[in-house]
Amino acid sequence: MAIAWAEDFKEQVKVFAVLLLIEVVVEVVSYEWLGDHLFGVAWHSHGIVEYLVHSVWLMIVMTPLLFWYVRRQLRTQSRLHHDLWQMAHYDELTGLPNRRLAFTNMKEFLSDSVGSGHPMAVLLIDLDRFKQVNDSLGHDVGDEVLKIAAGRVRDVLGRGEIAARLGGDEFLVMIPAASTEEAVQAANLLLERLQEKITWNGYEFYLTASIGIALCPVSGETVSSVMKSADLAMYEAKRDGKNRWHIHMEALQEKLYSTFRLENDLRRALHEQNELFLEFQPQMNVGTNRVDSLEALIRWHHPTLGLIPPSEFIPIAEDSGLIVKIGALVLQTACAQLNEWKRQNKSILPIGVNVSQVELAQQDFVEKFLHVLSDYDIDTSLVFIEITETSLMKNEREVRDKLTQLRQRGIHVMLDDFGNGYNSLGVLRQLPIDTVKIDRTFVRDIHSSVADRSLFSALVHLAHSFSLTVLAEGVEHQQQLAVVSEERCDQYQGYLFSRPITANKVAIDYL
Ligand code: C2E
Ligand code: CA
Ligand code: CA
Repeated sequence: MAIAWAEDFKEQVKVFAVLLLIEVVVEVVSYEWLGDHLFGVAWHSHGIVEYLVHSVWLMIVMTPLLFWYVRRQLRTQSRLHHDLWQMAHYDELTGLPNRRLAFTNMKEFLSDSVGSGHPMAVLLIDLDRFKQVNDSLGHDVGDEVLKIAAGRVRDVLGRGEIAARLGGDEFLVMIPAASTEEAVQAANLLLERLQEKITWNGYEFYLTASIGIALCPVSGETVSSVMKSADLAMYEAKRDGKNRWHIHMEALQEKLYSTFRLENDLRRALHEQNELFLEFQPQMNVGTNRVDSLEALIRWHHPTLGLIPPSEFIPIAEDSGLIVKIGALVLQTACAQLNEWKRQNKSILPIGVNVSQVELAQQDFVEKFLHVLSDYDIDTSLVFIEITETSLMKNEREVRDKLTQLRQRGIHVMLDDFGNGYNSLGVLRQLPIDTVKIDRTFVRDIHSSVADRSLFSALVHLAHSFSLTVLAEGVEHQQQLAVVSEERCDQYQGYLFSRPITANKVAIDYL
């Protein structure tokens, strides 16, 4: 750009010199001509003073004209140069920087990164199955989709980050001074944003992308080595089944990788059929020994790792915010299951869903929850929620308000894992809950330890004195159940009666 401008300037100086020369010639000629015609032959004899007066007069008229001309020329030229520069460095279709500019920027970022020791992240984004869009819907639609994708990529950029279109359906995002976590976060954000529904001219479709992440300088110190790493990672993401990111391995320690991988896989699992599903565990009435209700428990069947316990993936889902989607999926699946049983003319049991603190913290949690129930036409008495003590501790007032709203609409609330949190027993009185679920660690030894039995007995009495019902968790032996019954606990749940089972088995055995 600077070179072009200098060239421009030289050119303009030349034009200026030529014009100045013309001015001098005009001046000399006009002097002779004017002198002869206006003042007669005698003019010459007036000498140098008149000549100078004439010159100054002409200069005054001509110089602004000259400047005006030069300025105009410079402007046109620089606009032209600007247009040419734009064309050479920006992608015409999407308006994003093109490959050339991206690589120039990357070179600068890389030298900063190597110099300062701050890593930088390069995300290579390749749209999945874009060729199909082009082939089946035509290039016009393809172009439009690329524009939409480019807009979405641009939307998620933070300050100082650069996006570019490398060509075809390949995009690049560069994040200076980014940690691994930040790079992954950006990749997740991109995947989420890109997979939102596209509606265009009556067409509706979903787009996904595969992202290769390279972290510099670990994954390379030159543009070509970084691009090679990002490319390899992207290829891995495609090979693993698309719609995910993959980090160039050298950039990661194994441990981090497994968490990231699970998160990545979980994100994908949410869009797959059958990987995430529910099991149900009966909650029994102690007095009648019949099933009162069912607790929905999520299961994840990972395609290569097999069944992953919720204790492993729920914390990851909570950290990444994916739990909100999981919670929604659980509620929808539970409602759909209730409707299915209705359709089969089965008797119906209320289903409890676990709601984590992250979900409860959502401003519109109550509205969304009720909305799902009304969408599926499910009565509020058929679904209840289980929340833990810890979620009550965070944003206490807000959470209480939400629970109160739900209870006013007829949704029961169970306090899960009771005894594990820090709440003093007295607070039970003020909580907007219906049932206390005593944590299984307090149930485990009630048949063998006098102290444990006393504690259990106290908990049950206390809850009853606040008109709450009590459920004992983790009842595995007949002796435990005997104590539970003697202490007048209302409900129990545990392997003794049944482990969590599939919906089919529930229908066969209990409905
Ligand atoms: P939780 O809510 O306390 O669920 C009860 C857990 O205890 C279940 O483990 C269940 O299988 C297990 N369990 C039931 N009876 C017995 C017993 O007699 N003995 C023993 N040792 N264990 C018993 P699971 O399914 O592995 O779930 C673990 C935790 O994961 C749950 O604890 C809950 O905190 C969380 N979780 C499960 N599904 C969901 C979900 O859909 N959403 C959320 N937010 N969390 C969930
Ligand atoms: Ca629970
Ligand atoms: Ca529990």
